[in-house]
Amino acid sequence: MTRRPYIVGNWKMHGTRAMLSEARAIDRAAQRHMKVEVAIAPPYTLIHAIHREAEQIAVGAQDCHEVDGGAHTGDVSAAMIADAGAKFVILGHSERRQNHNESDALVRAKAESALAAGLRIIMCCGETAQLRESGDAVAFVKQQLAASLPPAETMPADIAERLTVAYEPIWAIGTGNVATTDDIGEMHAAIRALLIELFGEEQGAEVRIIYGGSVKPDNAAAIFAVPDVGGALVGGASLTADSFMGIALAA
Ligand code: PEP
Repeated sequence: MTRRPYIVGNWKMHGTRAMLSEARAIDRAAQRHMKVEVAIAPPYTLIHAIHREAEQIAVGAQDCHEVDGGAHTGDVSAAMIADAGAKFVILGHSERRQNHNESDALVRAKAESALAAGLRIIMCCGETAQLRESGDAVAFVKQQLAASLPPAETMPADIAERLTVAYEPIWAIGTGNVATTDDIGEMHAAIRALLIELFGEEQGAEVRIIYGGSVKPDNAAAIFAVPDVGGALVGGASLTADSFMGIALAA
């Protein structure tokens, strides 16, 4: 099955209600470009407002807690974000792993909770600059991803639909440094092999793998031309409809 390219905006901690006009513009543009699947992950505070208005784009969250509810001041569960209208959640982003000390085991518990709440998940993985330079990037990413995903036997039957993997080299996020197309191709092939190992030939071949790290309208086409790049996770350039949809149009 050939899937539509999946272009996801990660707004990070950007966006008040003033940004709703940008979400509307993205939604209008997405209605004209149905060949691409467009989604945005705003801060929690904007999920419901964007969900209520959006006709074409999916809205998601940037994280969730690993349990359904309880005495966890300041946290938000997967069930709560689903109730607010989120259709997916980004998990294991390097900023969560670094700034909040999220381990692979915690990310995996969050994934289990999100899948149980009916959400799709975007599982992030990626190496540091040091690992890239030492030549250990592929081995590290495979091990990180395998440890962050729930075991295959606990995954829902429609896992190819519910799981997207985002390869995001940490040194490329927000820096303007993009991985070379050769390095992206090598990593996506290694991730594909791992997915097939974990989920079998049929399901493992269908899971989408997207790239993230300084994707912009002017470099997007070259990245999307790399075999097995199924879309992009976009940070900075997703904050305006013009640049975000410029990337979507290149897909
Ligand atoms: C991200 O944070 O997921 C990301 C890819 O950011 P940027 O596009 O700004 O590098």
